[in-house]
Amino acid sequence: MRRFRDTDEVDYCIVGVGSAGGVLLQRLSRAGFQVVGIEAGPFWDTERDWVSDEKGSHQLYWTDLRITGGEHPLSLGENNSGKGVGGGSVHWAAFAPRFHPSDFRVYTEDGVGADWPISYDDLKPYYELLEREIPIAGPAYFPWGDPHGYPYGPHPMGGVGNSLIRGCTKLGIRVSAGGPVAILSGSRGDRPHCIYRGFCIQGCKVGAKASTLITHVPNALESGGEVRDCSMASRIELGPDRRVKGVHYFDREGREHFQKAKAVIVSGYAIETPRLLLNSACPGFSAGLANSSGTLGRYLMAQAGNVILGRFDHLVRLYKAPPAHAMTEEFYETDPKRGFARGFAIQTVGPLPIAFAKQMMVAKGAWGWGMRRVMMDYNHWSSIAVLGEILPWADNRVELASETDQFGIPVAKVTFNLHDNDKKLIEFGKNKVMEVMWAAGAEDVVQEDRYAHLVGASRMGSDPETSVVDRFGRTHDIANLFVCDGSVLPTQGSANPGLTIQALAARTADYLISQGDRIFNSNSRDMTPPPVRYNLSPPGTFWKGMPRMT
Ligand SMILES: Cc1cc2nc3c(=O)[nH]c(=O)nc-3n(C[C@H](O)[C@H](O)[C@H](O)COP(=O)(O)OP(=O)(O)OC[C@H]3O[C@@H](n4cnc5c(N)ncnc54)[C@H](O)[C@@H]3O)c2cc1C
Ligand code: SF4
Repeated sequence: MRRFRDTDEVDYCIVGVGSAGGVLLQRLSRAGFQVVGIEAGPFWDTERDWVSDEKGSHQLYWTDLRITGGEHPLSLGENNSGKGVGGGSVHWAAFAPRFHPSDFRVYTEDGVGADWPISYDDLKPYYELLEREIPIAGPAYFPWGDPHGYPYGPHPMGGVGNSLIRGCTKLGIRVSAGGPVAILSGSRGDRPHCIYRGFCIQGCKVGAKASTLITHVPNALESGGEVRDCSMASRIELGPDRRVKGVHYFDREGREHFQKAKAVIVSGYAIETPRLLLNSACPGFSAGLANSSGTLGRYLMAQAGNVILGRFDHLVRLYKAPPAHAMTEEFYETDPKRGFARGFAIQTVGPLPIAFAKQMMVAKGAWGWGMRRVMMDYNHWSSIAVLGEILPWADNRVELASETDQFGIPVAKVTFNLHDNDKKLIEFGKNKVMEVMWAAGAEDVVQEDRYAHLVGASRMGSDPETSVVDRFGRTHDIANLFVCDGSVLPTQGSANPGLTIQALAARTADYLISQGDRIFNSNSRDMTPPPVRYNLSPPGTFWKGMPRMT
């Protein structure tokens, strides 16, 4: 790997080499820019560091101190973000649906939330491209949103998928079997196909599940990019000319450094991105860097993720397949008859024993001998989840706490409250999934309240007074400071966000590439959409033929 010195003024310094950061690093390096990715966690060696064991995989998560509060506090820690190269894409379950066209104009269609400054059509070429690069396995025809098919065929069904399909079929609900999921259903290059043993959110030692660690970062290094791992960014430096000069960070020994850069891109996740910008407050930006709007940290969103567990007389073996392998988006769009705006998806989940025990403790009050009995019954349970759209609210936010981390950096305080529309949506979604579980033949059904997938808190928009970044991820306030990760999402739909985050990263990269040196030398904003650069895909992307692209 190429190594830059701190004193080298690189073109781009990316903070966070996760889902978005990995794609950005690959694109910008391949286009010939000098790029350093500063990553708080380790550069994983999948052979040495990963284990097919639930407890042994907790190191993949960001478990550093974060403070949670509000009326409906989010549980932080292992249910949020990753720490290490690949970020959350290392431990994601890998469901990879696209957002629907309606997600980009929620305010116009439903009078709630916000409109995006881009449309579905702006992102569609990048969805198609990333579905090839990752690649995604799924049905030949996925009927919801903008109907489309997938480049790799669907996976066979596990026991949980069979319960979802049985229940939905009985109730006349259309269901997608075998994807869309970022897991190989056939081998590709040096990546083997899935062997269906269910350790996907433990990192997939096999390499069948996609993460930017294996899909994009290798090509970034081949193209001259650097990943500086175990390096925690603490502050972005602003110069007197209102342009950023680089990033302060702590290395693995706790020594402080400053990486000089012509431009900075923050890709740290919906909590750590606003945290870093708030911690970078300075004269002129006393409320946080790029926060003249006062919206930095606000409009944080999580999706409702209630898990419904059903016991069946027959063996289900919920570990015996990727947790993500069947879903329906039949309830995704607003239906005025339901009495709330927006909707939800229904998806398979496959908790391993520790997660299952926690769910049973909450859902059934299992403890002591009761817990032992339930655990001995593990193979008879199935689990299906709601994935519901919670709207963006200003009071759901990331602020700085008075507590500090191991480097002395103030940690994030997250406040989360459900509003009326959210509560109605969750109640309806939860009952619908219970109905599906009963229809599938369950003899006992219980549920656990849960949230998933944090996004928002540095949202994109056209109006600098109500958003942090413009439609290409450039902060409204500072011409050479960008944000590119899940934090820029103005709304979140009820599709899992990972594919959209990576598609946005590829689009931001195309914009930066088309702007060339202008980003480094000028404060003027050229808002011309960039051409889609298919030639920057990692090698091997088009092995199975050219995608359906014009
Ligand atoms: C259990 C679980 C299952 C999931 N399943 C799915 C799924 O099936 N489908 C889906 O689409 N999504 C899923 N997600 C969500 C998905 O993983 C995230 O939405 C996505 O990874 C977020 O991407 P990001 O680029 O915003 O941040 P991340 O991928 O989290 O990347 C941020 C990176 O920045 C680094 N970083 C942060 N702050 C600093 C700093 N100050 N200095 C240096 N580095 C820093 C972090 O270490 C991290 O590597 C799941 C999440 C969880 C927890
Ligand atoms: S089920 Fe497939 S994708 Fe999941 S960990 Fe096993 S091999 Fe990897």
